[in-house]
Amino acid sequence: MTIDIINLTKSFPGFTLGPIDLKLPDNTIIVLIGPTGSGKSTLLNLIVGLTKPDKGSIYINEIDITNTPIESRRIGYSFQNPSLFPHLNVYENIVFGIRKSDRDNRKSQIKRLVESFEVSNLLDRDIHALSGGEMQKVSLARMLVTKPKIMLMDEPLVHLDTKTRVQLRKDLRRILKEEGVLGIYVTHFEDDVYALADSVSVLEKGIIKKTDTLKTMLAFPKNQPQSTSSISEFFQKDHNYLEGRVTESTNGITIFKVGEHKFEILGDYPIDSTVGVLIKPEDIILAVDFVHTSARNIIKTKVAAIHASNIKTGILNIHLVINNISLVSRITQESKEHLKITEGEYVYAIFKATAPHIVREE
Ligand code: ADP
Ligand code: MG
Repeated sequence: MTIDIINLTKSFPGFTLGPIDLKLPDNTIIVLIGPTGSGKSTLLNLIVGLTKPDKGSIYINEIDITNTPIESRRIGYSFQNPSLFPHLNVYENIVFGIRKSDRDNRKSQIKRLVESFEVSNLLDRDIHALSGGEMQKVSLARMLVTKPKIMLMDEPLVHLDTKTRVQLRKDLRRILKEEGVLGIYVTHFEDDVYALADSVSVLEKGIIKKTDTLKTMLAFPKNQPQSTSSISEFFQKDHNYLEGRVTESTNGITIFKVGEHKFEILGDYPIDSTVGVLIKPEDIILAVDFVHTSARNIIKTKVAAIHASNIKTGILNIHLVINNISLVSRITQESKEHLKITEGEYVYAIFKATAPHIVREE
């Protein structure tokens, strides 16, 4: 499935969405991120058919569906609040959308999703006896059981506690990939982007500022050092994101490789799986010479640029690059002068195995 959105526009009093042009390739999860009121829900409503556009067109698999009724679009839509029938139990809710299909087919489809979301033990429960996370799982399973080829998800995990959200989004990415669904996931949480996205669209005041793959979005732009990665307020934190393949994992220490570079993190992860980690710029220490320390990660990098992080305090962001890796370290003006760090020179970037925060596993 592909979605092509061309010149799509919708105005409300005091707000205009668009014109939006967006091309979504097959089997992709795109995360749409933007502040409250930027038009994220409006865009999903237009795609699903709940709202009529003023102008423009939407194509699914190159077929114009701009005026096709909702029920013929075959798009799954999940909202912030789980939509479940309160008078039906969990099983009855999940089976609802496929109650007319044959019995064996129904059984196998439900079994698969119920196992994926780990809700097998809840099938006889009443809806009101579920936790928020369980409700959202059932709601998502209920949607996916109808085998939509496109799933639109409007902040489906926003009301859940962080732990549940982290677990559920991991399940969700795995399931969407297994089922080959084109997913559009709306959020205002930065970490959801790292955990879920193949590509990212940033929406601000009704306009898509940028759409790109996650990696390209986060890469340090060599041509315009002033802009760094501040595409939107969500990426202004200059978090370091590293993604690589696990090569070793024993006794709670895991090694993953990004190109030829090896990094160590805490925890056990399956060999050959992919992990994505965030590292705070404050957690990256710089050294001019190689030093033996207890920190497990040390990498020789080139200083690509030095920018003020905060003009008032004199804190600096040191942008480092090596091969396809870019990192930011945050140090004081005094440290920079003391170590004589200058653009174009090589420095060692050092961080402990405890510094990276895992945000993606697959
Ligand atoms: P987001 O989902 O990014 O928070 P929305 O798409 O819900 O943003 O809303 C974008 C803007 O459009 C807001 O200013 C909102 O008030 C307005 N809006 C959304 N739906 C309607 C509607 N049905 N009628 C009038 N204004 C609307
Ligand atoms: Mg919204």
